[in-house]
Amino acid sequence: MTKEFKPDPVIESSPKPEFKNDEYVPLKKEVYVKAGDMMSDKGYEEAYLSDVIRARMKRENKRFWAGDNISDYLHESDKEHLINEATEAFELVLDRLLIDRENDPNSHGTARRLAKMYFNEIMAGRYDPAPDATCFPNDSEDRYEGMLVVRSELRSMCSHHHQPISGVAYIGIIAAQKLIGLSKYTRIAQWCARRGTLQEELCNDIAREIERATGAKDLGVYIQAIHGCCENRGIMAHSSLTQTTVLKGAFKDDGNTKKEFFDNIKLQQEFAPR
Ligand SMILES: [Zn+2]
Repeated sequence: MTKEFKPDPVIESSPKPEFKNDEYVPLKKEVYVKAGDMMSDKGYEEAYLSDVIRARMKRENKRFWAGDNISDYLHESDKEHLINEATEAFELVLDRLLIDRENDPNSHGTARRLAKMYFNEIMAGRYDPAPDATCFPNDSEDRYEGMLVVRSELRSMCSHHHQPISGVAYIGIIAAQKLIGLSKYTRIAQWCARRGTLQEELCNDIAREIERATGAKDLGVYIQAIHGCCENRGIMAHSSLTQTTVLKGAFKDDGNTKKEFFDNIKLQQEFAPR
């Protein structure tokens, strides 16, 4: 993407900072150039914001796999910019697939729809910060000491094929000193799910984030889901179901607690079959 580009006069007149050739230099808000280009005579080439962010994450050893949240590296205003860049890239994919996006009315806006869907919906959990989970104290004499089991509908996507995963997570905890609102369990689970992920990884992620939000050490997460990559391609197996379980603390070590968790799941399934 080469554009006619006028450097910001204020920054241009200040002394040139020391940058390595492969680092990106901010020229003005949201406009970056490669340091090497800036110092050579070949002129400026505006950099992709996604390249700038990726370079920053690499420099700071931040992992940015499909299932990782990278919201610390984005400003809210970056999303629109990134959607524009991804639209350009999806246009190229459609061209390479030999789809006539100029004349086919159904393919005309597809690149942009794909870019928006990835950032705002199916991968939103990578770009958005963790849901705000306000805590309520659970430390009085009549504190709740029982098991709490929440059923959360999930929509996710496998990072291998970008095929949909749809299922249900059952999240069980024995509350510690604090409680979070009931809807927050599902918000946290969905935030973890809306990324490119594997069901095993997702189960771990939900358990870790619920532990972080509630402080509970005794918890279990059970997910059952169907996978587009088994139904729509490969073995083409309809009605295949994958189950994963992560158990921690008493859920793992105490047989009665574990049984109570799975009994609760069965009761939930009678109430809402899945
Ligand atoms: Zn897959």
